[in-house]
Amino acid sequence: MRLVRFAAQGRLARGIIQDDEVTEGEGDFASLKLSRIRHPLAQVQLFPPCTPSKVVAVGLNYRDHAGEMGLPIPDEPILFLKPPTTVIGPGEKILYPAMSKRVDYEAELGVVIKKRCKNIGPEAAPDYILGYTCANDVTARDLQKKDGQWTRAKSFDTFCPVGPWIETEVEPSDLQVQSRLNGELKQSSRTSQFIFKVPELVAFISRVMTLEPGDLIITGTPSGIGPMQPGDEVEVRIEGIGSLKNIVR
Ligand code: MG
Repeated sequence: MRLVRFAAQGRLARGIIQDDEVTEGEGDFASLKLSRIRHPLAQVQLFPPCTPSKVVAVGLNYRDHAGEMGLPIPDEPILFLKPPTTVIGPGEKILYPAMSKRVDYEAELGVVIKKRCKNIGPEAAPDYILGYTCANDVTARDLQKKDGQWTRAKSFDTFCPVGPWIETEVEPSDLQVQSRLNGELKQSSRTSQFIFKVPELVAFISRVMTLEPGDLIITGTPSGIGPMQPGDEVEVRIEGIGSLKNIVR
């Protein structure tokens, strides 16, 4: 099932995509009751599919990217946060900040949390996952190097495009993850390259902080990261989920 948040006829609603239509629902995604109201998909504006209280990001989670950066394989996940104000939806603009001269794309698998989650083990993780989406961990690379820690570099408004929907039925252990810049393939790997698998990540993070419904975990990026310029179109494409496109301004 593909879960969406969207605006139609001036209202913001939740729903599901079936073929080329969006069926409206009531309630949150974990208990969505479908109505009979339908809209052509082409006539709705899609919003970010989740409204996280926090975006928990994982650094260096692909074996090929660790190799590219010349870094050792970490023995525990490296975590950082992006504020909720970074989140934008499909088709929204990534704003190039005046403070930076090097802004990179990072294609990532996003994991959306279904229900409150604390101190769980990996075997319980699937019960707490609503589904999966495409995410772009936009990064001011020069500021990441300059600051020595990552808060500023990862936190500019618009630096976390997410969407276009939450796919609830995909199995995340071996999906192709790609990015394209102006149509040219830049990153391509598979989640089978993960150093820490999705259930391990959810369990590990839940032993640090309580995860709330709608929270977003972005699971690290493959090799091939690189810069974007104003006017560029960046696409994150994940097998079994879909395609997320945004323009840099
Ligand atoms: Mg990243």
